[in-house]
Amino acid sequence: MRALIAGAGPAGLYLAYLMKRQLPEWELRVVEQNPRDSTFGFGVVFSDRALEFLRADDPQTYERITPAMETWTDITVVHRGTPVVIDGIGFSAIGRLKFLQLLQKQLETAGILPLFNQTISPGQDLNEFDLVVAADGANSTIRSTAEFGTTVAPLSNKFAWFGTTRVFDTLTQTFVQNEHGTFNAHHYRHSPSMSTFVFECDGTTWAKAGFERMGEAGTIAYGEKLFADTLQGHKLVSNRSIWRNFPKVRNARWSVGNRVLIGDAQRTAHFSIGSGTRLAMEDAIALAKALAEFRSDVPAALASFEAARRPIVEKLVAAADASADWYERFPDHMRLAPRDFAWSYIQRSGRIDPEKLRQIAPKFVAG
Ligand SMILES: Cc1cc2nc3c(=O)[nH]c(=O)nc-3n(C[C@H](O)[C@H](O)[C@H](O)COP(=O)(O)OP(=O)(O)OC[C@H]3O[C@@H](n4cnc5c(N)ncnc54)[C@H](O)[C@@H]3O)c2cc1C
Repeated sequence: MRALIAGAGPAGLYLAYLMKRQLPEWELRVVEQNPRDSTFGFGVVFSDRALEFLRADDPQTYERITPAMETWTDITVVHRGTPVVIDGIGFSAIGRLKFLQLLQKQLETAGILPLFNQTISPGQDLNEFDLVVAADGANSTIRSTAEFGTTVAPLSNKFAWFGTTRVFDTLTQTFVQNEHGTFNAHHYRHSPSMSTFVFECDGTTWAKAGFERMGEAGTIAYGEKLFADTLQGHKLVSNRSIWRNFPKVRNARWSVGNRVLIGDAQRTAHFSIGSGTRLAMEDAIALAKALAEFRSDVPAALASFEAARRPIVEKLVAAADASADWYERFPDHMRLAPRDFAWSYIQRSGRIDPEKLRQIAPKFVAG
């Protein structure tokens, strides 16, 4: 049996590792368009449970990655210059490149090296493979080769993914206002010396600020001035940090024949809930399990994968959508006083009811 895994992001790398362990008779080819050691973005956060989903079944990967993660216990929401600390809602984070390198090392222990600098094109002949896995991200090429019933709806906010050398204590959401409109930065440290800094605003503010004509250097200078109090003299660092609209990707079918979608190719979950990477890896776990169960009956394995996994994914995606909706309306929420604003923020995905919040964040709720 031969499988092509398109994309060496978290979904593709982890699926290849699991398949090699569980289905050693399969011949696997992992193809990645980028060079080794190159990726977009800076860090990724994992919400409170972080990599706990790996601990029991895959302690080796858990042990390899967890020591490289930064962790903290609070979130800080800064509005009108006032920081409000929400205690007890822990996160962990890691640089995206570091994370991919650790997954690659893990894959090497199973004897597989991805083929870097190779791009799958839409017209490529894929007939030699018994299984074709689209792990090639939100703009998946494989997805365009069959009728998955795909919809891609861009959100209206604009964001750009930067880094900075300022090392923040907690995951912080900073909201500011100037003559052009309102802005938000999601920022947190992802290594002992670097933080991630995702800078976001609504479309009207973006147009008024003139970002379209500004170029990257201009955007950095603007961001450093706007967030001067937050950055405290530190610079923003770019890595292909272009302005984008977050795409909501959905698919009516997860598989067509022997082709299957996993990770962001299958659906995206707004970055504000810190779950896209975990979802991608959990897809890999579920798909490897289904393939191990059905062995050479690939269509049956793919149907079983979707039946088991879709309800779980849809629940999380609904929470991500609710969170994204809150960000789409953040200028309205900014009419609230700082503490009410922080309350609105923490309730945004509909996953934390007030009683549960009282248990996990007693100081914040008492305040
Ligand atoms: C601003 C922002 C912040 C985010 N923050 C977080 C966060 O804090 N926490 C979190 O969990 N998630 C976050 N995410 C989401 C997270 O990045 C994705 O959910 C996750 O990377 C999905 O993994 P994947 O393997 O499916 O896709 P990707 O990571 O996108 O990997 C796909 C791979 O396929 C390759 N590829 C694409 N096309 C081809 C082709 N034709 N041929 C060969 N290779 C190809 C790409 O180069 C890439 O390496 C964020 C996303 C954004 C945009």
